[in-house]
Formats: sequence, structure tokens, C-alpha cells
Amino acid sequence: MVAKHYHDICTRMESACKRAGRLASEVTLIAVSKTKPTDMLKEAYDAGARDFGENKVQEILAKSPVLPADIRWHMIGHLQTNKVRQVIGRACLIHSVDSVKLAREIEKESRKHDLITPILLEINVAREESKYGFFLEEAEAALMEIASFPHVSVQGLMTIAPIVEKAEENREIFRKLHQFFIDIKCKNIDNVTMSVLSMGMTGDFEVAVEEGATMVRVGTGIFGERQIREN
Ligand SMILES: *Cc1c(COP(=O)(O)O)cnc(C)c1O
Repeated sequence: MVAKHYHDICTRMESACKRAGRLASEVTLIAVSKTKPTDMLKEAYDAGARDFGENKVQEILAKSPVLPADIRWHMIGHLQTNKVRQVIGRACLIHSVDSVKLAREIEKESRKHDLITPILLEINVAREESKYGFFLEEAEAALMEIASFPHVSVQGLMTIAPIVEKAEENREIFRKLHQFFIDIKCKNIDNVTMSVLSMGMTGDFEVAVEEGATMVRVGTGIFGERQIREN
């Protein structure tokens, strides 16, 4: 079932790209495998998935040794500063940098390992109280500060859109973040590339692709419902 679901999501992503006049190669599908057992991840891998998203450092540490080495692990969940040490060098991209303090810790640990860690800034576009992330109006100042950290490379932005009945209700959120992404890109800030826009989940990834997402994070659509309620 995982393989079929994976292919279905790929097909829907390609259609969304076509509608938006974009190339399918512009958008990376991240299979969000949190709480799922490694045999299901292997099924997705065999179907072609190479990018996997987890929201806990412990799950990346537990799953990565028993799965193929060419998997790219994305850290997409809220990261506590005391867990940073364990994720450095193990995640290809940290999507969920939601404070300058966290970025500073990533800088510190990356320097120890002589690594440059790629990150995204998480933006709380809809200003939901239950969510982490910078508000849009504070993001630029945070970005300028984080850009000065030599062992952190800011590659773009991430958002978790509100839970809505119809995906269409999130179009404005995605459009707003894409506009901000373009505005920042145009400023050509040193050490800020703005090449990744991570937005869209099972319920709304097609709208996100139409609005410029370069990474979508799909869990339920590939692996089915999760037993454990996350966050
Ligand atoms: C769980 C999760 C997803 C995937 O959500 P689905 O609705 O299952 O596709 C995407 N992004 C983040 C940050 C998540 O925690």
C-alpha cells in the first residue's frame, strides 16, 4: 500500500506542477515517516523515496542505521537546544529553526564538528498561538542575525499552515510566504540563499505547489493515519 500511495502522491504533485507551469523536478517530496516503523520506510524507499522527514531527533538516530545510507533525513519538528548536538551531521536540512537562540546553538555545535548546517526558518504565517515559528514581521531581523553565523547556512523558509477543511483556505498563507521568500531573495543577503520553500502537507500540498513550494512534507498521504497524535 505504501508504494501505491507514494506513487499517487507523486502523480498529484506532477499534475499540480503542470497546472502551475512548473517542472516536477522543481519540487521535492519529503515522506514524513514519524512514528512509522522502518519496514514501511523501506517500502517507500523501494518505491523511490529518498527524502524522509522526522520530527524527533531520536527517531532519526534509531531509523537511519537500519535503512539505506543514501536517504536524506529532514528534521521537521520543534528542536530543543539540548538535542542539537545529536542532530548535527545527521540531518541534511533542519526545517524548524524557530528562534535565534536555536540557530546560535546549531552554530556552536556545527563549529565543533567543522560543519556548515543547512537550515530553514520556520514562519508562523497565520500567527497561530499553538505553533512555533517567527511571525513574518520579525523574520527579517532574525534572518539578518542568523546570516552572520558562519557554520549555519540559511537556505529558505518553512511553514506549517493551519488545519482547514478545504486546502484552498490556505492558499493565501502560502502566497504570503512565497512573496516574502521572493522579497528576501531579492535582497541578496550574504549567507542566505532562499532556494527552499518548504510548505504543504497531505491536506494542502497541491495548493502549496501551485503557490511556489519547492519541498512538500507528506505523511498521512503516504503512510496512512498515525496512531499517536503528534504535537
Ligand atoms: C506530521 C508533519 C507533516 C505531515 O503531516 P501529514 O498531514 O500527515 O501529511 C508535515 N510537516 C510537519 C512539520 C509535521 O510535523
